[in-house]
Amino acid sequence: MNKILVVGASIAGPVVCYWLKKIGFKPTLIEKNDQIRKGGYAVDILGIAIEVVKKMGVLEAIAAQRTSIQRSRHVDALGYTLREDEPETAGFRLGEDVEMSRGDLVQIFMDLIPDVPCHFAQSIVELDQQQDGVVVTFADGSIECYDLVIGADGLHSKTRRLAFLDSDYTKVDLGACIGVANIPNVLNIDHEEVLFEAHNKSIHYVSDRDPNMAQVGFMFRSDKHSIGHAEAQK
Ligand SMILES: Cc1cc2nc3c(=O)[nH]c(=O)nc-3n(C[C@H](O)[C@H](O)[C@H](O)COP(=O)(O)OP(=O)(O)OC[C@H]3O[C@@H](n4cnc5c(N)ncnc54)[C@H](O)[C@@H]3O)c2cc1C
Repeated sequence: MNKILVVGASIAGPVVCYWLKKIGFKPTLIEKNDQIRKGGYAVDILGIAIEVVKKMGVLEAIAAQRTSIQRSRHVDALGYTLREDEPETAGFRLGEDVEMSRGDLVQIFMDLIPDVPCHFAQSIVELDQQQDGVVVTFADGSIECYDLVIGADGLHSKTRRLAFLDSDYTKVDLGACIGVANIPNVLNIDHEEVLFEAHNKSIHYVSDRDPNMAQVGFMFRSDKHSIGHAEAQK
């Protein structure tokens, strides 16, 4: 087993390619987007993930790009501070745990695998399990045989849908939705995050490195299953 297809160039995809390559396999990475998806909020690298990035030699690069929020405040509807926390406490981070922009983290992992072929604007349409491998039909019509296919294509994984029957797994809808957008820093805050909650809805507003811009996340509960993809949520 040597030739491996990894689907999805986000967090899991490049990380699994790095390790496969290191131990002698030949991974190929594909991503349906036409470039790395840089969007999203800050994500935490916690506990065991810190051990993994240390072994990959990128802890310093991650630490250099970590978020540098100085203040974390819960406010009421008029903007008065109800409670103030240390940002590390508010984010449940301990010890060496770090928070950083998701897109920057993806870039760090992608930079580690320059020798792994990565095809953007590519996806899979069919998987055919044969005795000696998997025949993959790609969205551009090309067909290739691999020893193994790894789905790293996220929550709504197409690889999973192609490889398994619906009855093989259970997806549990937690009824929680989030829509994230970059907006001008209208609250004019500096290295700070502000949180507001009411009626099962919450807003998280943060401005970190770029004082002109803020990221805002709107979180709400919904039992409507039609809501669930980024554009609808926004
Ligand atoms: C744009 C974006 C923003 C996000 N923002 C946040 C955030 O703010 N906070 C947070 O905690 N988590 C966020 N996440 C989720 C977080 O990245 C993942 O839940 C977690 O890191 C696990 O990563 P993953 O690599 O398994 O999957 P994901 O990060 O979901 O990545 C899956 C990748 O596979 C690609 N893909 C999907 N289908 C196919 C296909 N058929 N063929 C080829 N490629 C495919 C996607 O474009 C994506 O690049 C975001 C994910 C994305 C894609």
